[in-house]
Amino acid sequence: MAESMKKEQPCIRCAECVNRCPVGINPVFIMNTMKSMPVDKAKVKALDPLKCTDCGICTQVCPSGIDVATIVKRSKVIAKLP
Ligand code: SF4
Ligand code: SF4
Repeated sequence: MAESMKKEQPCIRCAECVNRCPVGINPVFIMNTMKSMPVDKAKVKALDPLKCTDCGICTQVCPSGIDVATIVKRSKVIAKLP
């Protein structure tokens, strides 16, 4: 009972998160940009994560069980950097 974490599968590039995002940003691109090391700050900013309303829809619709919304949320911190 202790572990309730869903096993995450790789992104299948279905674009469901993109199609369903109510503010028209691209959660999967944001996620992929956040994975690159070091993170390309200019690229993150250009993807407009600050428009995200934290609705959580991208996470809900992802067939691979990826918590896309949390990654977008983290990217906002990067986007706010000077
Ligand atoms: S949590 Fe943010 S990125 Fe995800 S669908 Fe909602 S507004 Fe779009
Ligand atoms: S919904 Fe999930 S699997 Fe589909 S493109 Fe977005 S992150 Fe990838």
